[in-house]
Amino acid sequence: MSKTLRFLSQRLTSLLPDELKTGELWQLLSPRQHPLLLSQRRATMIVNRVRLFAMLFAVLTPLWGIIDIMVFSPELWIQLAVLRLFTSLAFATLLVLYRPSGSLLDAYRAMAILFIIPTLFYIASHSFLAGHQLNDLSAAVATGYAFLPFVLMAGLAIFPLSLIENALLASVLLVAQGLAGYLSWSTLNWPSFAGGFWLLILIAGVTALASVSQLAFMITLVRQAIHDPLTGVFSRRSGEEILCMQWSAAQRSDSHFTLAFIDLDHFKNINDRFGHEAGDKILRHFALHIGKTLRNSDSLLRWGGEEFLLLMPSTSLEQARYALERRQAHGFGLRPDGQPLTASIGLSERIYDQTDSYQQMLELADERMYLAKQAGRNQLCSES
Ligand code: GH3
Ligand code: MG
Ligand code: MG
Repeated sequence: MSKTLRFLSQRLTSLLPDELKTGELWQLLSPRQHPLLLSQRRATMIVNRVRLFAMLFAVLTPLWGIIDIMVFSPELWIQLAVLRLFTSLAFATLLVLYRPSGSLLDAYRAMAILFIIPTLFYIASHSFLAGHQLNDLSAAVATGYAFLPFVLMAGLAIFPLSLIENALLASVLLVAQGLAGYLSWSTLNWPSFAGGFWLLILIAGVTALASVSQLAFMITLVRQAIHDPLTGVFSRRSGEEILCMQWSAAQRSDSHFTLAFIDLDHFKNINDRFGHEAGDKILRHFALHIGKTLRNSDSLLRWGGEEFLLLMPSTSLEQARYALERRQAHGFGLRPDGQPLTASIGLSERIYDQTDSYQQMLELADERMYLAKQAGRNQLCSES
């Protein structure tokens, strides 16, 4: 029995996107566990796609008015033309005023506005069309107006969304469609409505698959882009972004923020005696070793060859000193000759050092790391 279950679960997990690591699969379900840099990039991407769609609709909405002129009575197409003009203006405003800020809340708001504009257009055009007698051709075009919920549902596929986000948005559209059917129940051709509703559910399913696949692809790309390929810790570029964000957050809440500049001692000597490969292995071990002892809020990044930065938000200088001295006492692993691998560490803290920028914190920590070297290596320095 358990064998069958294991077989089934293996077969099922092999269907999941294999570019993802096991721990990342949860990130497909909800955005709660998304790393900061992924959230930020996803928010930017969502807002940019909203703006792309807003531009497309700002142009297409008035253009479609030409068809209205050809098939509807003047009274009706003029009503629709005014509606189209306002809708196009609303899309244009969204395009011009909305800029990516990196905040997910802003991205959700942009998506909501993008969906609310056509929904309002749909409701208003519906009431205009209902008040007019239509011939065959104009009735055919009017039916086209009823396709909007399907377009909106399919439109969700352009966003990299988690399953929960997608289900929430899709259910809003389904509920709205259900409500529209309920309100016009007396005149409703219900078999055709039910068929339409079923189609909407099918589109929702395909859309969810498309959105989640995009998210999976994005998680992989962002992971590869922000991590150093050798050690797996944050690369210098993404690390500096995190440093900048954490420094600003600490500044806003006036809280402690400690930065440690770690430089491995006599590293060149390892390369010279045992080869570059052996040096690489030591770097990987070091990152793995120190990474295991980090708190969730700490970040480790590779600043350069054998230099690492450790960012410790909400940590005072004494707390950081204590933690790192303990780390140093345990050692950072062994060199290929069996000798302990040591490091010189410079510390700076936002409040203690009264720094004005993260660059200043970096300079101080770097300077103190050199002082630690001069004082004989394998030690910590937190004073200039
Ligand atoms: P100190 O105690 O003064 O820091 O001496 P050090 O030898 O560690 O410092 P130095 O700056 O002279 O040398 C750093 C060495 O790190 C030089 C370079 O060969 C090595 N290095 C830099 N990047 C890598 C890498 O990716 N892999 C390996 N194996 N070595 C690297
Ligand atoms: Mg160095
Ligand atoms: Mg060194």
